[in-house]
Amino acid sequence: MTGYVGFSNYPNQEHRRSIKRGFSFTLMVAGESGLGKSTLINTLFESKVYPGKDDNAAAAAAAALGVVVGSEGAKTVEITSVSAEIVENNVKLRLSVVDTPGFGDSINNDQAWKPILENIESRFDAYLAQENRVNRSKIVDNRVNALLYFIKPTGHGLRAIDIEFMKNLHNKVNLIPVVAKADTMTPREVEQFKGKILADINFHGIQIFKPVSDQFDDPETIADNKAIAGKIPFAVVGSERLVERSDGTRVRGRQYPWGIIEVENEAHNDFVSLRQMLLRTHMEELRDATDVSLYETYRTQKLLALGH
Ligand code: GDP
Ligand code: MG
Repeated sequence: MTGYVGFSNYPNQEHRRSIKRGFSFTLMVAGESGLGKSTLINTLFESKVYPGKDDNAAAAAAAALGVVVGSEGAKTVEITSVSAEIVENNVKLRLSVVDTPGFGDSINNDQAWKPILENIESRFDAYLAQENRVNRSKIVDNRVNALLYFIKPTGHGLRAIDIEFMKNLHNKVNLIPVVAKADTMTPREVEQFKGKILADINFHGIQIFKPVSDQFDDPETIADNKAIAGKIPFAVVGSERLVERSDGTRVRGRQYPWGIIEVENEAHNDFVSLRQMLLRTHMEELRDATDVSLYETYRTQKLLALGH
């Protein structure tokens, strides 16, 4: 990512308003234990989420995360949330990442999705309660704007547990499937695996977040959307270590006897594209979809159930 993120330059009215108050973005990760969820969160923060403009913010973010997210090997046992405030051109962004305990450890994983659904819904409830207050000037928005769902790199498409999870969550959150530990597969295997996953997602009627263009988009945006959409499900690699390249420079990556996989190399995996989509090109769209579609549907159902 070059330059700064660009969230402070969003053009429209809606954003001018939220810019004054500052705005928030909440990302959640979920999936089986050991697939690299906590590592990816750390990678995201440590990889200079906001390069250039404000290195202090990135450092603060990494420090904030270091406190809560366990280092390699430490298991996430409860839902934890870490946030960092990033300021760009006097615009405040509160970025929160919610780590959830991996599932797949117990014999019965039928309901692995349940605590995660409950957490997402309780954030909607908290927002709804604030909307109903007389003084609504200080609403805190902790709604989850995107959920990264980690898929085990088996090569065989989705498993029953993945399908169950996604079906139970897809109308409550912007679902973004990712192929975990993509460095354990060859590029060809990754491509084939992605095809199988998409076929399964389609077959089971699972709704995932997809960047869409409309007639108002400029050619550049349309091209961006297409490039990003073509990478879904993102094949990601996380690492908390720096490795040495043949030219002597040190980069974030994973070392193998045959060479290294660089986290921030677009030819090696989709980490950069994912980060770009989340924090730059589609942050606004993800926030809108959460508010206008997912939350609105939840709210309507809730109020109907209460007999309003
Ligand atoms: P979590 O249980 O999903 O939070 O998984 P962790 O982040 O704790 O990672 C579990 C193990 O997988 C650790 O030993 C990590 O070093 C390793 N790991 C994390 N990300 C990757 C990756 O992208 N590729 C590979 N090969 N290993 C990874
Ligand atoms: Mg973890």
